[in-house]
Amino acid sequence: MHETRLRFPPSPTGYLHIGGARTALYNWLYAKKTGGKLVLRIEDTDADRSSEDSIQGIIDGLNWLGIDWDEGPYFQTEFSHEHRAAAARLVRHGKAYHCFCSKEELERKREAALKAKTAVGYDGTCRHLGEAEITARHERGIPSVIRFKVPERHGKLGYDDEVLGRIESDYEEIDDFVIVRSNGNPLYLLCNVVDDIRDRITHVVRGQDHMTNTIKQLLLYEALGAPVPVFAHMPLTLDTKKAKISKRSHGEIVAVQFYRDNGFIPWAFNNFLVLLGWSPGDDREIFSKEELIEAFSLDRINKSASIFNYRKDDPKFFTDPKAIAINEHYLRTMDVEALAPMVKDVLVKEQLWDDSYEGERKQWFLQTIELIRSRFHVLTDFTTMGRAYFSDDFQIEEKPLTKNLLKFPELQTLLPELAERYALLSDFSLEQTERLARECAERAGVKPGVIINGMRTVVTGQLAGPSLFEILITIGQQKVVERLCRTPQFYV
Ligand code: GLU
Repeated sequence: MHETRLRFPPSPTGYLHIGGARTALYNWLYAKKTGGKLVLRIEDTDADRSSEDSIQGIIDGLNWLGIDWDEGPYFQTEFSHEHRAAAARLVRHGKAYHCFCSKEELERKREAALKAKTAVGYDGTCRHLGEAEITARHERGIPSVIRFKVPERHGKLGYDDEVLGRIESDYEEIDDFVIVRSNGNPLYLLCNVVDDIRDRITHVVRGQDHMTNTIKQLLLYEALGAPVPVFAHMPLTLDTKKAKISKRSHGEIVAVQFYRDNGFIPWAFNNFLVLLGWSPGDDREIFSKEELIEAFSLDRINKSASIFNYRKDDPKFFTDPKAIAINEHYLRTMDVEALAPMVKDVLVKEQLWDDSYEGERKQWFLQTIELIRSRFHVLTDFTTMGRAYFSDDFQIEEKPLTKNLLKFPELQTLLPELAERYALLSDFSLEQTERLARECAERAGVKPGVIINGMRTVVTGQLAGPSLFEILITIGQQKVVERLCRTPQFYV
């Protein structure tokens, strides 16, 4: 078999939508699986809607996800001459024709057909105009579009979709469609096919929203004398109310950038995306890159819509809970050395980074990540919930402040007293810190939990976390002593 060649051809109209990212991922996976190539093509033909920023946004998004391409980016507008030449060739060969029907006329006919309940498609008025008539109309300056001449055949036109099986349409139902606008600009339908032929694309993996295009494009392949690629149409991604997910109705969560900025791990997000419309046929949900390339296949893409489960009203679920759960899985279990550079990035952004974390304190840094990550959901938690490990400038959360500190006025003196003892320890170890804390509780006649929770609060600002004595050792004797001494200031 020839080399497989896939493509990701986004129209740069804003940002990388998660639906687009999923399309890119499926194409990338299939290219990798089959040892083929992935072509990146920016379909910027619609100049009004394309912008430099959105092209960059798409490229940044793909880079963040780690989806790389073998060729491109090609820009569709650079091939306009080929699109026009293809249209001219089709006209020359009698496979397309100039249509002079005005918009108003077409609209009038459409309304009449709707009323009469007959077919609303183009009625073929200009299909059989003679050469002389066409030239005369051109000379009179009557604007024209170019329409594809759908062959007069009976029966069905179809293809075998890798996902959906046999897809067919009656020839009679396809009316002569426009391939070039009256201003001379070829339409997407044609450009897309001309480009796919030039790029020798063997597999077109795209959304089901393109299925009506596919039927028409089959005719273009035939008319241009090119082999038809394999088609695989992916389900749409809808919200829980079965509406398309869009920035307008769902906000930032539909853009890949949102996940980058909110502390998602790129591979974890790919892992989430792949399950949004594909399943391995068993109950596996977590895949390494190699495992996923191995497991992926076009025929296991789902036929019916994927549901992006977004609960707008619950801030804890700021996006699909499954995306968070998969991210948590990676964050909490992946190799710490591999996670460390990602933690570094978020710390740098918050100015919490210290170069020693890659030098003499590297072990400390890795152990700290290991210690604190077990409750984290996203990378940015290292700078919020985990802030006290990297800075003295952190807030005490409201809940532990009232529940663990203000409720126990005795801690105002007990914690600074304990700090004095801690300062004198020559062996600041788990055993010694715990022993002194328990002695302190006993002497004061309070439960050890009161001391422990109070210490957790002033040392980390958090209600919950890892074992307190491990925290103390990690944060270090001097800082713990300083923080415990600060206790009275929270009572004023
Ligand atoms: N530019 C089209 C889009 O973004 C490409 C569709 C296709 O894959 O052919 O929807």
